[in-house]
Amino acid sequence: MDEILQRLIEGVRRFQTEVYPEQAEMFERAASEKQTPHTLFIACADSRIDPIAITSSSTGEIFVARNIGNMVPAYGEMLGGVSAVIEFAVSSLGVRHIVICGHSHCGAMQALLVPTSVATMPTVQSWLHNAHAALAVAENLHADPSGAHPEREVIDILTEQNVLLQMQHLKTHPSVAGAIAKRRLTISGWIYSIGTGQVRVAPDGEHTFTPIGEGTPIGA
Ligand SMILES: [Zn+2]
Repeated sequence: MDEILQRLIEGVRRFQTEVYPEQAEMFERAASEKQTPHTLFIACADSRIDPIAITSSSTGEIFVARNIGNMVPAYGEMLGGVSAVIEFAVSSLGVRHIVICGHSHCGAMQALLVPTSVATMPTVQSWLHNAHAALAVAENLHADPSGAHPEREVIDILTEQNVLLQMQHLKTHPSVAGAIAKRRLTISGWIYSIGTGQVRVAPDGEHTFTPIGEGTPIGA
């Protein structure tokens, strides 16, 4: 049999014999009740990001949407999977928070800076248009010697600006705008550092990302 498929099947067997039996009651309960996740987590498809592990969450707590570069097309731009996930999560599931999580070493951010790297991938190229405004902001911030970003790598600035831009796009979706107006929903932007496990958070309305564990507690 296919070597990779075999590896995946062996993983399922381990799940069935080791993991499931220990939590059978929880899984049975999850199947018998309507799901009630409190958060929609929008992350990059990068295989090194694990939203459930990062947040120490359990089955049923986090509704997850993943794509190249953790992007949210502005409403009406590309009505598709991401827009449908957002609308369903907010309007039907009633999630109370949406996280947009960017990350270090993101291939999508690298591709924005070096477009020739995706010259043979027209679909990826088209998708990256969702972050072009962030690229323009990042390049200007990086070029401004009097700015607040001295000696930072442009990709780090871009990664942050992309998350902030996608938070703006998120608010163009009627379901999100309505729920925020009714104070039923809040949003935040995160940057996850793959190598260190550090997570930095920008609550809605802030443009700086504060490391968790340093300074004033987030939301205080
Ligand atoms: Zn990425």
